[in-house]
Amino acid sequence: MNCPRCNDVALDEKSLKDIDIDHCPECKGLWLDLREMDQLEDNAMNEDEKKGMMEYARRESNISCPKCHEVMETFNYRANDLPIDHCRNQHGYWLDEGEEKKILAVMKQRVQDLKRSSSAEESWSAFLESGGARSFLTKVKDLFTG
Ligand SMILES: [Zn+2]
Ligand SMILES: [Zn+2]
Repeated sequence: MNCPRCNDVALDEKSLKDIDIDHCPECKGLWLDLREMDQLEDNAMNEDEKKGMMEYARRESNISCPKCHEVMETFNYRANDLPIDHCRNQHGYWLDEGEEKKILAVMKQRVQDLKRSSSAEESWSAFLESGGARSFLTKVKDLFTG
C-alpha cells in the first residue's frame, strides 16, 4: 500500500502492542483501518461516548484511499478542529503527521471530562475496572515514543 500523500512511497507497518498501523516514512502520516481506529477508541471511551459523535463537517478530501484509490472524505473528529480523511468504502482513516497525537489528546480529554462528570461516574469506574485506562495510556505512550 502506498502513501496517499506521497504516492509512490510504500507504507511501513508498525505494531503498537495489538494494533498494527501503517505509517509513511516520508511524510510520517498514519493509516488506520476501521478496526484499528475502534481499538484506539475502545480504550478511551465507552459505547455511549462513541455513539453519534464521530464525524462533523464532511467535505471532499484532496487525497485518495491507498486501498481503492477513490477520493476520500474529510471530516472533523468529534467536533474538534481536527480534520481526518477517511475512505467512503470504509477502508480506513488517514492521519497526517501529528494528527494521531491530537486525536489521542481529544480522547484523553473526553476521559477527563467523564471523570469530572458525576452523571458519568458509573461508566468511568467501569472503564477503570476494565483496565481501559491503563492500556489506553500504554498505547498513548507507545505512539509518542514509537
Ligand atoms: Zn507520505
Ligand atoms: Zn478505499
